[in-house]
Amino acid sequence: MPNDPDCVFCKIVAGVIPCAKLLDEEHALAFLDIGPVAPGHALLIPRDHYETMDTMPPDAAAAMFRRLPALVKAVRAVTGCEGVNVLQNNGAIAGQVVPHVHVHVIPREPAGRFSFNWPAGQYEKGQIDSLARAIRERLSQGEMQ
Ligand code: AMP
Repeated sequence: MPNDPDCVFCKIVAGVIPCAKLLDEEHALAFLDIGPVAPGHALLIPRDHYETMDTMPPDAAAAMFRRLPALVKAVRAVTGCEGVNVLQNNGAIAGQVVPHVHVHVIPREPAGRFSFNWPAGQYEKGQIDSLARAIRERLSQGEMQ
């Protein structure tokens, strides 16, 4: 897929705008987020332009994600953080600002600025089974493959 000339991350891939590069591979790039929520906040992206995760071919996603464990390990080692959130936003409603798939690697410290609520809910009777069945059916149709 051709890179999008209007996309800031495609411009980083093309070297048109600079970045603090961490990984530079055939299918993936990692660099430090320019607006870090914690020091060492890193982004892992595919070199090709895909707007959201669900538009990525499985092989392209696999080629990007295969470097995620090493990136998390290096960020943990260098920052000495206690933990890491791996976060991936799809769509504006989910907080996606840059429409080029990216995975946030966010170091966590007790006194860090970044936090989020996890407002766990409950299913109505039967709802969990019907939702699981619908998603299973969708997956078995090969919709996402
Ligand atoms: P999201 O809200 O998930 O789309 O996150 C986009 C992230 O990209 C934000 O955390 C921005 O700080 C980061 N970002 C935007 N432009 C750049 C850039 N030129 N270099 C590095 N990070 C960037």
